Amino acid sequence: MKKLFPTSTTGSLPKPSWIAEPEKLWSPWKLQGTELNYGKLDALRVSIQEQQNAGIDIIGDGEQTRQHFVTTFIEHLDGVDFKKREIVKIRDRYEASVPTVVGPVSRPSSIFVEDARFLRQQTDQPIKWALPGPMTMVDTLYDAHYKSREKLAWEFAKILNQEAKELEAAGVDIIQFDEPAFNVFFDEVNEWGIACLEKAIEGLKCETAVHICYGYGIKANNDWKKSLGSEWRQYEEVFPKLQQSNIDIVSLECQNSRVPVELIELLRGKKVMVGVIDVATDTIETPEDVAATIREALKYVDADKLYPCTNCGMAPLSREVARGKLNALSAGAEIVRQELSATCTF
Ligand SMILES: [Zn+2]
Repeated sequence: MKKLFPTSTTGSLPKPSWIAEPEKLWSPWKLQGTELNYGKLDALRVSIQEQQNAGIDIIGDGEQTRQHFVTTFIEHLDGVDFKKREIVKIRDRYEASVPTVVGPVSRPSSIFVEDARFLRQQTDQPIKWALPGPMTMVDTLYDAHYKSREKLAWEFAKILNQEAKELEAAGVDIIQFDEPAFNVFFDEVNEWGIACLEKAIEGLKCETAVHICYGYGIKANNDWKKSLGSEWRQYEEVFPKLQQSNIDIVSLECQNSRVPVELIELLRGKKVMVGVIDVATDTIETPEDVAATIREALKYVDADKLYPCTNCGMAPLSREVARGKLNALSAGAEIVRQELSATCTF
């Protein structure tokens, strides 16, 4: 992009209360059948407008047509039985009842491609679409078939590559893979996680991103963060290999986190989506807060490679708070844009 500091959201945005219960993850739909299908597209229209009104540069779908960033994708696959459930520990952090992989996994038909095509029709701005990453998908299931996290991740990577190629053909400019699991299973990330990610982006000409974060502002994540000490150095384990990978963009958490900002230097040469909006608090950042985080990150990212973003998805927040945060994101990026153009002498 020619404009400096193009802004975007990481993924989810709050849904309108007429389609799903607000301020909740996995919120059940309030509509059914055809009404639900139309309702999802209407919610998507509203979400696009909210982003545009705030002056966001790269438009996302706000995950308005899906219930959850991992589960909804997996629901469309063969080989996974949602009725057969087992209790597993997700992200080595909290126990959950999850579906079971009972046979070879495959994608009988496109999953988000129609929705992406709809988003493409609504705007001429660049658009971004998020998919779950292979390792995070594996970490959300009980595997009674492959009995190997690596093998299952590889199969998911092949499926994600099919979907990604169709999203690219539908006009998506940036395809992002959400890999919160990269912040937990460092050995696996370096042994096979990044290789699976590269399989998922194989042959793509559009830009590709990986999002690695400390999660939504829910209790299990907040408790986990309290246990991580005064400095969160998790990124240090995976950034060196990601810097060497074919992924174009790395999306990370920064604002209000205890991530030492200098760890971004490990990615030098990559584009970086820097989280300048905290999604774990209702406090709305001021534009100056956002500008300060961008200035700090600029020490470690070249200006033309810095994409200000949110730390993570905003689904659990109220629409008012999310709107305020989008406005701050946009206004903060503009402050630093103006500063740089004022100091530019050519
Ligand atoms: Zn996230």
